[in-house]
Parts: sequence; C-alpha cells; structure tokens
Amino acid sequence: MNAELLSKINKLEKEAMVLEPNKNQRDEWLLQVQTYCDKFIDNIDINKTFIKDLPDNFFKTSNIKDDPENLKTCLDILEKHVDYIGLNPASGGHMGYIPGGGIYTTALGDFMADITNRYAGIFFGGPGAVRMENMLIDWTAKLINYPKGALGNLTSGGSIANLIAITTARDAKNIKSHNITKSVIYMTSHTHHCVDKAIRIAGLSETIIRRIPLDKSFRIDTDALEQLLKDDKSAGLNPFLVVATIGTTDVGAVDNIEKIGKLTKAYDTWFHIDAAYGGYFILVDELKERFKGVESSDSLVIDPHKSLFLSYGTGIVLVKDGKKLHESHYYKANYMKDAIANATVPSPADLSPELTKHFRGLRFWLSLKLFGLKPFKAGLLEKHLLCKYFHSAIESRGFIVGPKPELSVCIYKYKTSQIDSNAFNERLVENIHADGRVFVSSTTIDGEIWLRMAILAFRTHKYHIDKCIDMLMDGVEKTKLELY
Ligand SMILES: *Cc1c(COP(=O)(O)O)cnc(C)c1O
Repeated sequence: MNAELLSKINKLEKEAMVLEPNKNQRDEWLLQVQTYCDKFIDNIDINKTFIKDLPDNFFKTSNIKDDPENLKTCLDILEKHVDYIGLNPASGGHMGYIPGGGIYTTALGDFMADITNRYAGIFFGGPGAVRMENMLIDWTAKLINYPKGALGNLTSGGSIANLIAITTARDAKNIKSHNITKSVIYMTSHTHHCVDKAIRIAGLSETIIRRIPLDKSFRIDTDALEQLLKDDKSAGLNPFLVVATIGTTDVGAVDNIEKIGKLTKAYDTWFHIDAAYGGYFILVDELKERFKGVESSDSLVIDPHKSLFLSYGTGIVLVKDGKKLHESHYYKANYMKDAIANATVPSPADLSPELTKHFRGLRFWLSLKLFGLKPFKAGLLEKHLLCKYFHSAIESRGFIVGPKPELSVCIYKYKTSQIDSNAFNERLVENIHADGRVFVSSTTIDGEIWLRMAILAFRTHKYHIDKCIDMLMDGVEKTKLELY
C-alpha cells in the first residue's frame, strides 16, 4: 500500500466533508433562511413593487474565493443587491406582464426535491418521481378533455413548452427541406414572441408566416383565416400549422377555439394552442365556456407558474397524439441500455430535449395536495372579477378601455384631447414606474400606446387594485402638470 496516497486521500476527505454540514449547521442555516424569507413576505405590502435599478458593480467586483463566507454575509448581499431592486414578482402589486406570484408550497417542494435529488428524467432511475409527474400531466390533459394516448412534459416554462410543440408539429407534418418553403404557419401579431423564437430554433424560418387579421376584440378573425387557408391550398401551398391563443399576453383575448378547430380539421392542419397564461382558468366553472373546443387542438401549452401561481420554473406541453411527441424527442444511447430495456412508462427524457432535469413535479404536486383545488378556483375567479371591477372603475375615471376582460387582462389609456395620446400615456407609464407602489406595464397596438392590467399574482386582492387606481390618478395629475 502506498502510505502517501492513503494519507492524501484522508486529508482530502476531511476537506471535502465540509460539503455535508452536520445537523447543527443545517438547523442554523435553515433558521437564518427562514427568518430572511419571513421578513420578505411580512413586508411585501409595505415595500414597493417596483424600484428602478441603479448602477451597481457589486457582482462585477466580488469574486468567488477559495475560503468560505458566512450565510449572514450572503443574505446581506441578497437583500442589498438582488431582492429589493427592479420588479418584485412575488408582490400582490405586480400587475404587469403576466404575474403568478409563487406560492410558499412551491419552495417546500423544491427544498425536498433538492435534498433528495430524485432523478426525474428517466423512469428506470426515478419511477416514483416520473409517475408523479405523469400523473400531473394526465390530470391537466383531462382538464382539457384530451383522450387517452395524450402525452406531455413538465417544462421549465411556456417558451420551452411551445418549442417542444412546434418541433412536434414540424415532424408530425413532415416538414423537410423539400417542402419547407411551401409550408405555411398561421398566427397573429398578438401571438407570443416565444412562438416566433420557437419557429426559428426549430429550423422553420423558411416557412411562409401569415399574420391572421384580428377582429374588434383582438381575436383571430376566423373568416380571414378560412380565406387564407383556402387561397393557400388552391395556390398549391401546404398550410401546416395554426397557432391560436387562450389569453393573449397583450390584451388577454381568447380565440374562437371551436371554430378554429373545425377549420384546421377541414384543412388537415396542425392546431396548436398557446394557453400559457390562460390555461388553468378552465378550472373555473363560470369561465369554462371560453374553452369550448379546446380538445380539438393537436397540442397545447399551459403554465402552472402562471395560472396555478407556482414560482417560476414550471410549464407544461401536451400533445394529443402522444406518439408524435415521442417520435420527435426520444433518443437511444448505448450507455442508457438498462433504462430503455426497463421502460414501461413514458420518461420525460423521451418527450423533451432534456435528460437530467429538476424534479419539478414535487412543487406542483405538493401545492395541489396541501391546498386542494378550492382556493385555486376561488383565486382564479377572484382575479377575473377584480379585472372586471378595475375595467369599469377606470372607465368611470376618464380612461378609454379596451374590450371587457375575458380572463384577467385588460387594456386602457388616458383620454386626453390636450396633447398627443401616445405622448401622454408614455409619460404616465414613466411616472407610474417611478412611483412603484404597484407595477403595471404597457403595450403598443397598431401604433397606439395602451396600459395593461394583468391580474394573476395570487397575492393580488381588491386592496391592490384600489391602490393601483389611486396611483394611476396621482400619475395622471402629475403627467398633466408636466405636459399641459
Ligand atoms: C408567458 C407566456 C409565454 C411564455 O412562457 P414563459 O413561461 O414565460 O416562458 C408564452 N405564451 C403566452 C401566451 C404567455 O403568456
């Protein structure tokens, strides 16, 4: 035996063992982290939702060192340089973009998933974890009435979920170099930009992209779509994919899914629905009607980190004919021999680009288990009604409003005859961001600037809407003083 070698291993073992903190150390750290998080939550309504960033060189100048620092130092850095600048997406005052909030139980699930580090990529390695994720996917597939045989994947978010769906559509419709320039994709100017991105990443930029005109409520004009399909077909083109949305990001519009389902069937076109934002509103009886025909789609994206309030990091893609999803994403490698021989249940790794992945099912499952569905349904209907409340409240205060909210997003702008509407509303948004009590964002539609109200954070309640209305009215006064 080489004594020198053994003594070296011994010494290294002692040094490396620091990576396994003892119970005392774990307790001490947990308590400090818990105290930090409690303070964050307890002060969430006192603190601003948006604080404009200032130049900060901290992370540029602080290096990772050989020696450890204590947790207190790290938490101070977080507090000073990360958690209280920019937008606070966990706040009930977050009503910009598409919020979600991040319910507490997500963190508990993540904590356990990280400690146990279950392998959720392949059934052979983590049968329980994969069964749990498959159950959640099946549960969601049942909500939208997909038949048996549908498969899906828990992704990191809606963008990757859309990419998986677009890739599957490409292969299912056999889009290859010989027909790509004759193949047509139909979407609108309000389709989420991640679909454009997915089209490019999936190698489909040489297809013809038709922007379907919108109707007065910013939905797909289905007559126009029918005409486009008809014209393209008779011109010898290959209409291959239609993308509809349940809850557009811009204005919250829900497309006429039933009608589009019929058209895509008649023209043998892949029908994809992006319900990343709006999907789980299907849980609300009062809003189910808006989902009529959803099962006629071939694929669908739905984000638990939006309309199920989970913290960032969980989306879902569903494909009605699960075989198609598998055909586009399975793989075989020599070193995976054992796993393939034992495959009796679909594995996430065969249905997505990922292999090793976070066990993101646990945060999702634990949240539904600990709360039951009732508070989710109540919360979603509450957000819808809050949006209606805001829509009429703001209209009565001199704002022009867009269509009545279908789910929980609406648009509005201040009506002014004194100066250019865009100049006024642009300045209004700047003033509101400088105020920061709550956060709202804006969008441009046909060259017109509109403010958006997006109510989906689980912490947003009537109190925040009233605070928002106060802030808007103060903003209007300030803007008038500045511009009139
Ligand atoms: C948020 C959103 C996306 C993108 O999803 P991420 O989870 O942010 O990647 C796609 N489509 C719609 C309609 C969305 O609202």
